[in-house]
Amino acid sequence: MKLQNVILPGRDPKSRWDVDYENDTINTITPAVASTAPGCTASSSNNPSPFTLEESPDPSSLLLPPLCHPHIHLDKAYLLTCNAQHNPRCAGTETLPEYTDLAPQDGSFKEALEFTARAKQRYTPDNLYLRGSQLLGTSLGQGVTSCRAFVELDHVTGRKCLDAAVKSKKMFAGQMHVQICAFAQDPIYSTEHGKENRLVLSRALEECSEGDIEVLGTTPYVENSREASLENIKWAVETALTRGLHLDFHLDYNLDREQSVMTWDVLQVLKEKRWKDRAQPGKTIVLGHCTRLTLCEDEEMERLAKTIKEWQLPVHFVGLPTSDLFMMGRSTSGDRRRGTMRVLDMISRGMDACLSVNNVGNAFTPWGTGDPIALASLGVGVYQAGTEEDAERLYECVSTRARRAIGLDSENDTVALSEGRKGEVLLVRNEQWVGCPGHLGIKIPARQRVSVRDVVWDPPDVGLRQMVRGG
Ligand SMILES: [Zn+2]
Repeated sequence: MKLQNVILPGRDPKSRWDVDYENDTINTITPAVASTAPGCTASSSNNPSPFTLEESPDPSSLLLPPLCHPHIHLDKAYLLTCNAQHNPRCAGTETLPEYTDLAPQDGSFKEALEFTARAKQRYTPDNLYLRGSQLLGTSLGQGVTSCRAFVELDHVTGRKCLDAAVKSKKMFAGQMHVQICAFAQDPIYSTEHGKENRLVLSRALEECSEGDIEVLGTTPYVENSREASLENIKWAVETALTRGLHLDFHLDYNLDREQSVMTWDVLQVLKEKRWKDRAQPGKTIVLGHCTRLTLCEDEEMERLAKTIKEWQLPVHFVGLPTSDLFMMGRSTSGDRRRGTMRVLDMISRGMDACLSVNNVGNAFTPWGTGDPIALASLGVGVYQAGTEEDAERLYECVSTRARRAIGLDSENDTVALSEGRKGEVLLVRNEQWVGCPGHLGIKIPARQRVSVRDVVWDPPDVGLRQMVRGG
């Protein structure tokens, strides 16, 4: 297919291009044959407008790399917002579980863990499949074509969440790459259920069909001692290596200087177990949350960047600000810092980092639409990142850098689209007119989004986004 008269990121926003796109590949990019002037259709006596308008073709669209969720929880999405009982189309499938009593009361992390544990006891296969599909369908509409989907395996859920995710993965095949992460949210080396949780996880890894599970994830900080946390890390690294999986830790989720930075322990274990030599090519290690790193001095961050580089470890950090800002720094007086990993700062230090949504509509993160562009937009304020270059970097964090973190691309962080690039592309349409409620009877020319900056600062409505694939 030919995408005509489009705007390309990283090029003069006044220039227009014709893109020849076949077999999911950009074959050629040539200067547009059509008119290059963006503008508005002339007003007519039927459509009076107080603005001076000129004759022009339809507004040009902006072409961007697709979006990615490098870290999103499929099984606990929309627990508080699904309201399935109120959807007449869901009636009759089964008695759908009710979660509305599990809305945050004090909003603490402890409460979120406890409420979500209670929610888990009510999961049913149909309900898991419904909420997971709602999340993936919504994401697809937002422009997401790949995700790392976390599903919990433990003594309460058994394989229920995993089976629903495998079903969703099949349903979305060809539309979205759903990379399933078999995930231990609960302890696997301490508490009365630790051993059983580990067995459930191990058995699923053993029994699952080839390719269904691509990632192993654990949560070392939920163990009840540092020793148990270290056991958790060692087991996960060894298991990921043995089974040829990607590895993903929820790590250092605190703002407490008294707690040691376990990121160092993970690096040490990866080195001791010779990840560099033993891992399958392209397998990565992702560390999520890591809010504790915001308390580190510059010297320690420099040392961290240097160590990862020297030891040649494919470690990526993923910041999860919608959850972190809601969860962290909850003391009622004194220091109420808002801690979320300083993703852009880490990138500038030479580390690999990106951003993700983590949770939507549950006690860990009751708010948000799950839209990666809205997340990048939040980053402008959170990281006080207001330059054009910052905006491009933030978009990369929910697109190209996110894909590379989960092992989908080896190199390709830039938002620029060039000839030979493979994969889907996201078309952001521009509108001619501002949609005024109440039929004012006048036409107001719409602002045009002509660069990545415009998209990150002012995320386009989902209805303006269109996925282009195939060709
Ligand atoms: Zn998470």
